[in-house]
Amino acid sequence: MPALLLPGEPAPIRLTNTVWAERGRLHDDLETVDDLRVWLATIDPGAVGAEIGEADLERFRALRDALRRLAAFLTDDDRPAAASAMREVESAVAEVNRAAAQAPAWPLLALDGGRLARRPGTAAAPADRCLAALAVQAIELFTGPERERLRACYGPGCVLYFVKDHPRRGWCSAGCGNRARAARHYARHRTSQQD
Ligand SMILES: [Zn+2]
Repeated sequence: MPALLLPGEPAPIRLTNTVWAERGRLHDDLETVDDLRVWLATIDPGAVGAEIGEADLERFRALRDALRRLAAFLTDDDRPAAASAMREVESAVAEVNRAAAQAPAWPLLALDGGRLARRPGTAAAPADRCLAALAVQAIELFTGPERERLRACYGPGCVLYFVKDHPRRGWCSAGCGNRARAARHYARHRTSQQD
């Protein structure tokens, strides 16, 4: 069952965070088609009930690995446990572009309760539409002003990314902040005992 960590992060960061760690063990929220189905429903209610298969799982996992590689690139991430399965930044760029091209989209004009409204138009299947939307959002995130606030969390053992939405936010979560403080305290205590 997916852990659905940090629901407040932008969708592409939530995709990177489908790889997470607990007590030194890595977990993967996208191991099965059912995992993907559950995860997608949290990202896009329009994807509920969509037909999803093994090929979709592979594509979402490839995009996820690409986004992890690019997040590491942007944050100078040197956490060994967080290393993406995709090693080359060029491959990650190509993967994002491949995903973004899956669902050409155009704006649609709609008459909504007597008012004109803008709706997204696409002929793609829901899974393709979600994959492409995540890739497009990632391109915007990684090239826009938010990229300056993208962080790798250096809480003990953590492999997550987050967008620093508050000047004092140093960790992905309060749990990581507490573990980091406890680890610092322990290290200090041990050093002073050795003196
Ligand atoms: Zn963390």
